[in-house]
Amino acid sequence: MSTEDMRVKSRLSNRLARLARAVLEPEHRVDPATVTIKKNNGSFEIPDCKNCRDRCCVHPRRDEGILLSLRDIATFVDSGLGDFIVGRYTFKKKNGTVQPEIDQMPRLKKRKGNCIFYDEDSGLCTEYGLRPTICRRFPYEVDYRNTKSGAVPIARFISEVSCPTISIRYKENSVQQMVADAIENENMSIEDEQLLPQHHKELRKMGFGPYLPAPKDCPT
Ligand code: SF4
Ligand code: SF4
Repeated sequence: MSTEDMRVKSRLSNRLARLARAVLEPEHRVDPATVTIKKNNGSFEIPDCKNCRDRCCVHPRRDEGILLSLRDIATFVDSGLGDFIVGRYTFKKKNGTVQPEIDQMPRLKKRKGNCIFYDEDSGLCTEYGLRPTICRRFPYEVDYRNTKSGAVPIARFISEVSCPTISIRYKENSVQQMVADAIENENMSIEDEQLLPQHHKELRKMGFGPYLPAPKDCPT
């Protein structure tokens, strides 16, 4: 791929990053240094994916499809995989503010009920390097614990989702990477909440139009 092709291909991601840098202040984001990891009986929990027979890519809980953030969309579009995305953001008013709704949110298409990128024969993701952050961080997420000094972020293994093969052996690299991805995923959600309702005009100009509601259905 020529340098020019690479520059064009990363255009949407670069534009989005520039807008996010201009709009979001550091205090809007979760600082990884402030996140503690919740342990189970003193041990970190990690999924044992190699021995899993019930992959989350085909799990019934994934019926709604894999939801995408603006950054995920930009990554797929820049990589020529935009045709695998369906859905558009919608907005709702809640507590006096306009927020993006997840019901119709852009998501990956499905094939035979599974994620479009899931290969049934190998049981692997065919776009592993590009997989959305929600896949990278699963099954860790960032939650918030209320303390006297305010809400404190905590990374936790999502116990209510059935991850059938949990290992509680301590593997520092695995835990650290999943937690870093969970924080990144949380920051992408925060980014979307800040950018979508108030900056949809700039997003439309950048090339996100196919994933946004019609202008008449966007907040002014
Ligand atoms: S369900 Fe859990 S153990 Fe199975 S592939 Fe997904 S993350 Fe790994
Ligand atoms: S994108 Fe890849 S990792 Fe994510 S659900 Fe689809 S097949 Fe699984």
